[in-house]
Amino acid sequence: QSNQRTFNFNAGPSALPLEVLEKAQKELVNFRGTGMSIMEMSHRSAPFEDIHNGAISRLRKLYSIPDNYEVLFLQGGASLQFSMIPMNFLKIGQQAGYIMTGSWSEKALEEAKLFGEPYEVASTKSNSYRNIPTLEELQFHLDDAYVHVTSNNTIYGTQWSVFPDTGEIPLIADMSSDIMSKPIDISKFGMIYAGAQKNLGPSGVTVVIVRKDLLVKANEEIPTILKYSTHVDGNSLYNTPPTFGIYMLGEVLNWVEEKGGLEVIAKNNEVKAKVIYDAIDNSNGFYTGHATLESRSLMNITFRVADESLEKLFLSEAKEVGFVGLNGHRSVGGCRASTYNAVPLEACQALSDFMVQFQNKHN
Ligand code: PLP
Repeated sequence: QSNQRTFNFNAGPSALPLEVLEKAQKELVNFRGTGMSIMEMSHRSAPFEDIHNGAISRLRKLYSIPDNYEVLFLQGGASLQFSMIPMNFLKIGQQAGYIMTGSWSEKALEEAKLFGEPYEVASTKSNSYRNIPTLEELQFHLDDAYVHVTSNNTIYGTQWSVFPDTGEIPLIADMSSDIMSKPIDISKFGMIYAGAQKNLGPSGVTVVIVRKDLLVKANEEIPTILKYSTHVDGNSLYNTPPTFGIYMLGEVLNWVEEKGGLEVIAKNNEVKAKVIYDAIDNSNGFYTGHATLESRSLMNITFRVADESLEKLFLSEAKEVGFVGLNGHRSVGGCRASTYNAVPLEACQALSDFMVQFQNKHN
């Protein structure tokens, strides 16, 4: 029941819209009079085809995706994209630029080294990935196969607000943790990819939006299932897709539409993040944000309790009163509140209030 829902700040998989979960629950056993669950249906049946193509067209509509882009639903998570991108688009000896803003960029770069000559365009590692590089710091090579960027750094809590202009070089963005959180001009990108499990639905589906001309130049001598063109040719039905996940993704997109689309979602996300950042900024140093002000993420709010001896207590008291998922990533520690689309303002306000109360008690 709705009143038993917890305040869920998990980084991923994360909160889903309650309305979507309830609708899925209603339709679970007998999907719209078919006498079957979605999970029990052929992926080539008419009802599933409607779900699948409906999800693609909703995604196209919400982002105004131009016709010269393909929309794919793949498997293997965003992590498989770290490999598929260089496998498809990087030739032996060819360079690609990687902008290093956190652990996920590092993982993407490592995979590219297996296929070509990727290099670091810029890195903020020496600043503990507290910031996004300035546009002036980015020096690409004109013959790069592509430039790779992580649009939102889930672990460090930083986010690009203005993307670099790479001119003729295709910009490829890992948007796993901020896809569908605000309007984006798709035409600025060669490719966008995202694991679904933060803003789009359950884990198991990876969304890829790729410009068609890149596919024409892609490497041919790679395994069939790892070629983007295979999935374009099969409308993402080359093999059995994660049917339930695609259904859920379609319903989440429907929810985004019903909320009023990406402009409204973006405004909500700003308000939600602000109430928590305010608790940090008005704490006179009791809480310290990890990210620099200009690079702050609206999706993952990373902070420390300045007095380290109180941090464990903060996290355990928060847990006790019903806040879930506030521990920072195991690689960096501290605290992190992930405020993805489905996290309601009410949850953010409750956390902000709790932070103030905790401070007043222990200051
Ligand atoms: N990229 C980013 C920015 C992420 O946050 C994550 C997971 O949290 C990944 C990639 C890896 O995604 P997956 O688990 O779908 O492979």
